[in-house]
This record gives sequence, C-alpha cells and structure tokens, in this order.
Amino acid sequence: MTTDDFKGIKARLGDISRRDFMRYCSIMAGALGLSTGLAPRIAQAIADPKRRPPVIWLHGQECTGCTETLLRPSHPSLDSLILDIISLDYHETLCAGAGQQAEASLAQSMRENAGKYVLIIEGAIPVKDNGIYCKIGGKTFLSLVEEVAAQAGAIIAIGSCAAWGGIPSAHPNPTGATSAPEVLKGKTVVTLPGCPPNPYNLLSTVVHVLSFGKLPKLDSLGRPTFAYGRLIHENCERRPHFDAGRFAEKFGDEGHRLGYCLYKLGCKGPVTHANCPEIQFNDLGGGTWPVGTGHPCFGCAEKGVGFTIPMFTQVEVLSPTPFARQAPIIPERPVPVSPITAALAGGALGLAIGASAVALRKLKDSPDDPDHPVKED
Ligand code: SF4
Repeated sequence: MTTDDFKGIKARLGDISRRDFMRYCSIMAGALGLSTGLAPRIAQAIADPKRRPPVIWLHGQECTGCTETLLRPSHPSLDSLILDIISLDYHETLCAGAGQQAEASLAQSMRENAGKYVLIIEGAIPVKDNGIYCKIGGKTFLSLVEEVAAQAGAIIAIGSCAAWGGIPSAHPNPTGATSAPEVLKGKTVVTLPGCPPNPYNLLSTVVHVLSFGKLPKLDSLGRPTFAYGRLIHENCERRPHFDAGRFAEKFGDEGHRLGYCLYKLGCKGPVTHANCPEIQFNDLGGGTWPVGTGHPCFGCAEKGVGFTIPMFTQVEVLSPTPFARQAPIIPERPVPVSPITAALAGGALGLAIGASAVALRKLKDSPDDPDHPVKED
C-alpha cells in the first residue's frame, strides 16, 4: 500500500495510524482463516474507494439489534470501516430522508446499480396471509424482498431472524415468519446468524468479496465457514473445565463463581456453530461474550436451537469434539478467586499457544489461495 493510498484511508477513517491499520488487516486475514501474508491485499482492497459496492439494507420483522451491533463497536472504528468500504444507498434506520424521498433513493439505487448492488436483509419475512403483517412504503416486506433480490449482485441475510426465522418464527409463529433463504429459494443467500450477529463477520464477508472478487466459502446453510465452521464448545474458554468434569450446578454457586463449565445450566455451545469465543463482541479479541460473563450460550446462531430449545434444557453432546486449544485444568492447583475470569486465566495462555499453532500451520499451507482449507491436526 503506497503512502498516498494510506493518506486516503486516513482522510476517510480519521485518526488511525498506518501500523494500526495494517494490524487490523492482519487480524481480518486471520478472522477469514487466511494467511496474514494476505493482509496487504486486503489493505489495498479497503484503500481503493472505487471498489465500494452499493448496498441496499432492508428491515423486516426485527428489533434493529443487528444494525445496533454494527454501530456500537469502539475499536478500531468498525462502524467507520464498514460504512466507508460500502456505499449505503438505502437503510430504513439510517436514511437521512424519509417517506417518498427514501423510497425514491431505493428506486434510484436499484435502477442505477442493477446486477451490482448488495442486498442485506435484516429481520424475518412474514408470509402468512400474503405477507400483510409487515408493510413498508405500502408494499409487503415479502414483495419488497422479492423485488430487490431479483436484481441484486449478492444477498446477505444478517442476524438469526433473516437467516433462519429467529424470534418472530418461534412457536406459535402467528405471522408465518420465515427466513430469507426460504423466500429466495434458488438464489445464493449468505447467512450471518446471531442475535445479534457479530459485525466483524459482516465486515469480513464484505472484505473477502472486495479482496478476492468472490464470496467466501459457505456451508450448506449459507454460512461462511470462516465464521461458522466450528462449534462454540470447541473453542470455549471454559472447555478445560468441561473436559475435567467441573460444572456450575446453579447460578451463583461456587462452581459458577469460579468460572466452571455452564453445560448443566443449559449451555447450547455443544450444538451451536459460531466464532463467538474467538472474536467476541465489543472490542475484537479483548471484549466479552455471553459465556465469558457467566451466562450459558442459548444457541441463537443455530437453527432449531435458539428460541426453540428451552433456555435451561441440557442438550446432548452428540459428537465428541477435540479438546479445546486451552490450557489444561490442573485440579490440585488453586484456582484464582476472581469470579468470572477464573476460566479466562488459563484460556489466555491456551489461546496464545493455539493461535501460534494455527498461524504456523497456515504458513505451511498454500498462503495465496483464500479458499485453501486449513488442515486439521
Ligand atoms: S460453557 Fe458451554 S460451550 Fe463452554 S465448555 Fe461448557 S458446555 Fe461447552
């Protein structure tokens, strides 16, 4: 990246140092499961203002939490990065205009960018009674999604509601709420489930498209494998306690205060695919996530688990998974008395060792193929 390119980045993103920006791009490469050697290519893609894809963002049955999570991170200015690398032509919450003015900007963007714009769908789509339970600008959300999707270059369903129905589709589902992939059968829909989804997964998906000109590798449910390829249980910081048979039995008991595994409190980590324990929320790698604060995972990112299986019901651990890359628990050794961070203390070392092992393994693999699978141990 040339000095001029970086000057452009600085002008657009504000007070960010070149070192921080490159560090950020390296983290992004890591989050995508790529070699950090691809960071300069990612930096180049972000730096090029001509690559900004037009984005139309539609809201259906939802709480706007997905948009909120996008706007609330603090470092490194993720909202600026996302809003800078895309051209957000239409977003019902963030639009400066309203009413007919907003609808006109939607029609204009569709007309001028047919076949090129990215459609992001937030919220479930009610289909019962021809979709009359959610209307925007006089149209049903169902017809709006179908109309805008018809000419989209790429479609992303953000959040659990759009990805698989989420809360609006919970029993008894009076509005017939369903997901974007169900409504848009036959089209490729990238799904980023989570309640809320992690904004880094949206950013990583967009950056992948900008850097390599194609979507990241998806699983059978449309989820990018870089983010949803592993069970939460595999990378959870409390996993060494699970393996050692140390569980919290009740909220507030000694095991809970010492940071033991939350399986017996109904944790759905063993059946939920997501990268929450690795990238966490709020601040990349230094933030927090539900299990880290002592609350069992409720499986929001997994269809048929979140908002479906009761919160405190224990799930069956059907497929044994490898031990987490975390420091083992040594029962004889006194556990630090810090209530929430007892598990984190060992986890930090294990994460560092695990991250190094992953990095070394990736370096040994082909570094230039963004879809090159990471070999398993
Ligand atoms: S807290 Fe949940 S995800 Fe973490 S080890 Fe225990 S069961 Fe697995």
